[in-house]
Amino acid sequence: MRYPTVKGQLTRRAALFGGGAVVGGYLGARYAANVPSVTATQSLQPSGAAATLNDASLLNETPVFRHIVVQENPGEALIARLRTEIEEARAEGRPFNIGAARHSMGGHAIPPNGHAVTFDNGLVEPDTDNMIFRAHPGARWSDVIAQLDRVGMSPKVMQSNNDFGVAATFAVNAHGWPVPHGPMGATVKTVYMLRPDGELVRVSRDEFNDLFQLTMGGYGLTGAIIDMEVEMVENRRLVPTFQKMPARDFAPFFVGAIESGEVSMAYGRLNVDRETFFEDALMITYRDAADQSELPPAPGSGFMSKAAARIFRAQLMNEPVKDLRWWFEAGLGPMINGGEVTRNALLNEPVVTLDDGDPTRTDILHEYFVPPDRFAEFVTACQDVIPASYQEMLNITLRYVTADRESVLAYAPGPRIACVMLFSQEMTMRAETDHKRMTRALIDRVLDLGGTYYLPYRPHATRTQFLKAYPRAREFVARKRELDPGGVFRNMFWDSYLEGLA
Ligand SMILES: Cc1cc2nc3c(=O)[nH]c(=O)nc-3n(C[C@H](O)[C@H](O)[C@H](O)COP(=O)(O)OP(=O)(O)OC[C@H]3O[C@@H](n4cnc5c(N)ncnc54)[C@H](O)[C@@H]3O)c2cc1C
Repeated sequence: MRYPTVKGQLTRRAALFGGGAVVGGYLGARYAANVPSVTATQSLQPSGAAATLNDASLLNETPVFRHIVVQENPGEALIARLRTEIEEARAEGRPFNIGAARHSMGGHAIPPNGHAVTFDNGLVEPDTDNMIFRAHPGARWSDVIAQLDRVGMSPKVMQSNNDFGVAATFAVNAHGWPVPHGPMGATVKTVYMLRPDGELVRVSRDEFNDLFQLTMGGYGLTGAIIDMEVEMVENRRLVPTFQKMPARDFAPFFVGAIESGEVSMAYGRLNVDRETFFEDALMITYRDAADQSELPPAPGSGFMSKAAARIFRAQLMNEPVKDLRWWFEAGLGPMINGGEVTRNALLNEPVVTLDDGDPTRTDILHEYFVPPDRFAEFVTACQDVIPASYQEMLNITLRYVTADRESVLAYAPGPRIACVMLFSQEMTMRAETDHKRMTRALIDRVLDLGGTYYLPYRPHATRTQFLKAYPRAREFVARKRELDPGGVFRNMFWDSYLEGLA
């Protein structure tokens, strides 16, 4: 066995997008001053050792005691199997953890030396009378879209790609670009879960609400989700509008468009070339088309996405191509992408479209949640911090999330502009150290603006930063300990930030 496989994602760098040439001297003298020269170029590429698990960062190759892939439908057999696994882990003092696509980047779905379970069952049952769908927790959003599209329905909130597990989405409380919505947890009606004590419970806003709020964005630490009921909306034919503006003016335009009530999907982009970094913004909003009859089936990734992906990759350490991509997106894009498209077609995009298969680099995401009235200051903070680092930023996407007043580890206590960044990182010690330094600097600036950072990515934040960003973390830990006194549900996120918190 090399990497334990989940539908093949972890056997290849398709887990994320990838990179181009080796950075070599690019990281240069400045970095060398900060790290021991002998280890600076040490490779962090995974070895592919047996009985290890990794995640989308490719930087978390970790031994596990056992890894099982569960494909059966939710039912007595599945519950019995999970109970046995949990009890064995407890008896042996090992951690137990469930994952789906393992696209989190800090070992959030990896129990070191423990019992790792991957849920991988595509069961999805739409219920059009109640506008919900029932899903196996391991169903990927591609499975959801395939079933909902047939009956004219669409997910209400999901991430920008379709590869992720439905329960995992609830467990990180992810968000996307359908508007005006908060994180996905707000669209979940009911969760059936096995508590750490082995009891099967139905949790919702009416039953065990405490556990519901803890599990939403609780990173799999409060129990095993085995079935879910989630809201859906009608699929619609949409038409896009593209508007260019100075980056500092973006937030009022964006919030204004969303508050108009006419827009159902929206995002923004900023230019990333170093010379004019973050000076220009593009806002893309989608409204209902006049004709809603005979919606076509949602295709997968189209030719345009694949063509855009090639330009996207060619940006690596190539400033003229960064300019070209901005022109493609802000100038040419509106002309050739301006046609009507269904909501499901927009959501049905796999991560793999952007993969380039370079084993020497990995793609690392960051995300910051910024109060809209502080967005211009956020632009300045990024201009100060990012181009001065050695990291190659290839993209930023801007989204809108309404307030989440339910989850304990909430990242959007008020409405926020969600700023998702993608970096291509060399897989060496020096690049990792530089990335950590840059991330901490950015987090400090965002915290000063009253914002937060997103938890499923690299564990670069300090504990002090984490506690400032997530002021209810101690409460989360106290309630988790009551629920799971032996601490059997654990992963690397727990180990990095929550273990030992009193
Ligand atoms: C390319 C890329 C794009 C992304 N885009 C977005 C985006 O648009 N919006 C956004 O919000 N996030 C985004 N993310 C982050 C992503 O939503 C999270 O990393 C999410 O967890 C990925 O789903 P997964 O199936 O890979 O989860 P995994 O990494 O497998 O698991 C995530 C967490 O869920 C828990 N979990 C999984 N299944 C269960 C279960 N059955 N019971 C209990 N706990 C469970 C795990 O223990 C773990 O803590 C993106 C990530 C990548 C790599």
